[in-house]
Amino acid sequence: MKICIYPPLATIISTSLNRADADLSVLAKSSTRSVHGTEVLDKSTGSVLAPIYQTVTFGFKKAEDVGRAVRGETDDFVYTRWDNPTTRILEKKLADLEGAQACAFFSSGMAAISTAVMANVQKGDHVLATRDLYGETYRLIHDILPQFGVRTTLVDTEDLDAMRRGVGPNTKIVYVETPTNPTLKLVDIRAAAKIAHSVGAMLIVDNTFSSPLGQLPLKLGADMVVHGATKYLNGHSDVMAGAAAGKKEAIQNIRRMRKVLGGTLDPHAAFLVLRGIKTLAIRMEKHNESAGALTAYLESHRKVRRVNYPGLRSHPQHELAKRQMSGFGGMFSFELKGSMKDAMRFTESLKVATLGASLGAVETLVVQPATMTHTQLTSEDRRKTGISDTLIRVSVGIEDAEDLIADFEQALAKV
Ligand SMILES: *Cc1c(COP(=O)(O)O)cnc(C)c1O
Repeated sequence: MKICIYPPLATIISTSLNRADADLSVLAKSSTRSVHGTEVLDKSTGSVLAPIYQTVTFGFKKAEDVGRAVRGETDDFVYTRWDNPTTRILEKKLADLEGAQACAFFSSGMAAISTAVMANVQKGDHVLATRDLYGETYRLIHDILPQFGVRTTLVDTEDLDAMRRGVGPNTKIVYVETPTNPTLKLVDIRAAAKIAHSVGAMLIVDNTFSSPLGQLPLKLGADMVVHGATKYLNGHSDVMAGAAAGKKEAIQNIRRMRKVLGGTLDPHAAFLVLRGIKTLAIRMEKHNESAGALTAYLESHRKVRRVNYPGLRSHPQHELAKRQMSGFGGMFSFELKGSMKDAMRFTESLKVATLGASLGAVETLVVQPATMTHTQLTSEDRRKTGISDTLIRVSVGIEDAEDLIADFEQALAKV
């Protein structure tokens, strides 16, 4: 067997990637595309999986090729902070699932989000965003951007009039999360895109909570999707990763910023995320189903005041959820009757579910936002965003739904 090292590896990879592009058009369903798609049989070995190119640098035969690669005139790889073959295969895969022209992966969701935002604003610009953003995204937009002369406004983005009033001629980014954390409010993506475009701004949607199997923001008019790929995309609580996907030029712009800020994904982590994505469709199916069962159970429990889940008919935006989501997801929250202490006792009493941060993984995780993830807000601000002292956020895993219900039942009996 001949192992081909020169001509450059990049040529082999990019040739096989091009072939993969052709194959994609016949693979219709996203569950199929999350398994197959951008990995094609490695030409030199026949490997079914994408190889891990665990290298920081790439060799050249001809000196003149170096300059062309560095200037970006060829597809050749130069240095892994810029680009890596394993990561590129992963990027093609997520681009395909999100219906994007291109994608860039990062070492964490926050690396993706901060790089995507920084690549699109300058001093004097304005950013409009959801008020109850993910904690560190809130810090970025509310605290850090103003330090660089970028004005920011946070509004309740489920209120379209508040969004319309919030944008202006200097608005460059409208940034939304839907569903929101931890109260599961929705943003009408199609309407938000219209509002952003009316002032020439781009709409960025954090799609971490839904995954591309739950909603496709780009199809609804958004310009860019960002992900904490640490969550559902990888799905196993064992890799930090992030991504941005959108139009080719926009992603090229972000890649240039990534080179400088340096939040590139490691090739080994890229391999693990590729492996995670292979089971995304069946995981999401199970998450959707179990969240449906658990929320129906909790909604009728006498110790529960209310349940926030887009899949419930009681959710104020259930019609919108049905319109823009293809699955309601594995995230929900509920409010216990009683005190902060009761909620703490509930979380400590769980035996199958784990009390812990993060979400979107195979194991069920619960947090009490008032004592864990939203302690930076005053209790008045928490109340305004619907985060009561007894609110509990649940990320439903893939355990048996009956086991989960039994676990919640015994923990509720203790409060
Ligand atoms: C976790 C998360 C992020 C950040 O991802 P990291 O990989 O932890 O940096 C961003 N947005 C949402 C909605 C998240 O849940």
